Parts: sequence; structure tokens; C-alpha cells
Amino acid sequence: MMMTNMAVSGRDKLLFTPGPLTTSMTVKEAMLRDLGSLDGEFLALVQSLRSRLLALGSYPRESYECVLMQGSGTYVVESVLSSVIPRDGKLMVMVNGAYGRRMAQIARIHGIALDLFELAENRKFTAEIVAERLAASSGITHVAVVHCETTSGMLNQVEEIGRVVSAANAIYIVDAMSSFGAIPIDMTGAHISFLISSANKCIEGVPGFGFVLANRHTLESAKGNARTLSLDLYDQWAIMESSGGHFRFTPPIQTLLAFEQALNELDEEGGVRARGERYRQNHRALCMGMKAMGFEAYLAEEDQSFIITSFRYPVDPRFDFSNFYAELWSLGFVIYPGKLSKDLCFRIGSIGRITTTEIDQLLRAIHSVLRQMEMLLPAAL
Ligand SMILES: *Cc1c(COP(=O)(O)O)cnc(C)c1O
Repeated sequence: MMMTNMAVSGRDKLLFTPGPLTTSMTVKEAMLRDLGSLDGEFLALVQSLRSRLLALGSYPRESYECVLMQGSGTYVVESVLSSVIPRDGKLMVMVNGAYGRRMAQIARIHGIALDLFELAENRKFTAEIVAERLAASSGITHVAVVHCETTSGMLNQVEEIGRVVSAANAIYIVDAMSSFGAIPIDMTGAHISFLISSANKCIEGVPGFGFVLANRHTLESAKGNARTLSLDLYDQWAIMESSGGHFRFTPPIQTLLAFEQALNELDEEGGVRARGERYRQNHRALCMGMKAMGFEAYLAEEDQSFIITSFRYPVDPRFDFSNFYAELWSLGFVIYPGKLSKDLCFRIGSIGRITTTEIDQLLRAIHSVLRQMEMLLPAAL
């Protein structure tokens, strides 16, 4: 696809971050409006966004619902965990990074019985190990996992795990925040009851709300389980449904307008697979260029998603991450600090309105910063 970089105005930097990320100028321009929250045009927009999200995958309208929820991604994860698990339920959370850990923290705050299943941050959850763990546990009613663990870039095997969770008769919740829109997810085949993502990741919208694709039957049976008012998923859905697109509380109108344009641009690009392919090419170009300069990726390539990549700090006393970050920033490139609990890494995202052209620009900037730090290997000079 031809994609000229109309994303960045003179004063903004290119974001190689996992969201908020670089959005197109046309997505930003779609926000230049005022619209009331009861306006017929706005309500029609909400309804259309809900159906268009379901149409992005194998999420048939007969069985699935889409609920929009104000806030950042975490609010939506908290909405699901705090409002679908009954008082006598028990949640197993798989943790191999900060986002899994955050789900466990949410469960603790709401007093939800928790079975924490933790792996090292460089190990992925597979169907086999989850089956083993489920067989050894008792009373698990709900299971939650992160698809792309944005902490490292690790891709957990959510579809395979789903079959195991379903065989154990548990309800399956997937945080697909940083993968939805670029990696196809088979909700039906994987028996996923709640699939969560947000506006400002692979759909390339601006921050302000997230969404849940939910199995209608499971959503209906969550009625009355909410532990908060504003994050009550069932109620948000019921009101949105009965009133033709009305949010219970002030909706992020401009974010929703931008999101409509972002979905148009996703369609124009060729949909989820085409978007994933662009990101895959970004990731490939990034890894090759970084490797040539002597950087080592944190994960094994077969565990690594094309969404975001963690690179180890070079073993060189001249490397100082805050300098590195600041120099790149002043050249117009924003990278992401690491978030791993033990290993020193930084992260570079491949998502957002960027192509291999911008990846090449970033690689050239990294090259010049390393040269300035006098730490290039002879081979990369
Ligand atoms: C971005 C992200 C979230 C949500 O983070 P917010 O800062 O609340 O938007 C949750 N899970 C994963 C895997 C993410 O990448």
C-alpha cells in the first residue's frame, strides 16, 4: 500500500510506542467537530462502530455483542474483571509480564478469589502448560490471559489455550489490547467470551475508550455482578442496546469520531491481515537493522510478535539509556523504555501510522546516536 507520511505535523515526533501511537492526519482532523451526546448522528455513529468492530473478525451478530467503554485500556479490563465474575467465582490469571500482573492487581482490589499462574517474562503460555495447571486446580470459573504481552512483545497462544479453558468449563477472558486489528483472533473457535481492546492501538485511533466483544449469553448472565457503577459492563451494554447507542455517562465524542475514520483507513488498507502485514514488515526491517548495529532482541524470534520488540541494553559502559532516549527524541523519534522486572531492555513499537520508510529513518537516527556515543561496532560503522 502507498502510504505517504501525512501523519506528523511539523511539531510532532514519530512515535514508536505501543499506543498512544502515531495516527494519520485525517484521523486527527475527524475530531474537529462538536456533537451532542444525544444527537441522532452521534447515536448512529456509536451503533455503526459497534457493528463494524464485530465485522472485523469471526464475531457473528447472532452470538456476539460489542460494548464500548470510556477510559483507557485498563479501565476496560477492570470493567470486565469487576463486573462479569460472580461473588463466588474464582479467577485464574496468567502472568508473564506487567499487563498480566495488572489483571491480578485488579482482581485483588475487588476481592475476587485469585489463582495466579506466573511464568518468567521470556516464557509463553501454551495450551499444554495451562491444561496441566487447570487439571491441578479446583473451583476456577474464569481464566484471563494477555494475547500480546506488550511488556516484552511475547505472543501467548490464546486460541490453543481457549480450547483447554473451554474443556475445563471456565469462562475465557482475553486482553487483546495490543493485537486486535492486526492479528486475526478466532473468538468462536477459541471459545473466548470476552475479548478486550482499545481505540489507540492497532486500529490507530486516538485514546479515550476501549471495547469488549462479548458472547451475548455470557454477558447476559453477568447481570448484577458489577462491583462498581461506572464500569458495569452489563449495564453499559443494556443501556447502549435499549437506547440505540446512548452511553450512560459522557462519551468521548471526538475520540469516537476519530475512530470511525481510523476504521475507514483500516478498510482502505485491506483489513486486519493487510495491516498485520505492514506491521510485520516494519518489525522485520527493525530487527534486521538493529541486529546489524549489534543489538540483541530479548525474545526468541518464534515467541516474538510483530507488534513491539524488546532489545537488551548493549553490554557497554558507554551506553546510557536516558541519553540514548533523549538524543533520539531530539532527532524526532520517540522510543519506549523497558518494563521487564529483571532484564534491562528498551522497546520499539512497529504499530501506528508508520511504514518501513519511517523504520529506516529511525534506524539511521539510532546509528548516528551510537556514533556520537562512540559505541558502534566496526562492522556497523
Ligand atoms: C496498552 C495495553 C493495556 C492498557 O493500557 P492503558 O495504558 O490503560 O491503555 C492493557 N493491556 C495490554 C496488553 C496493553 O498493551
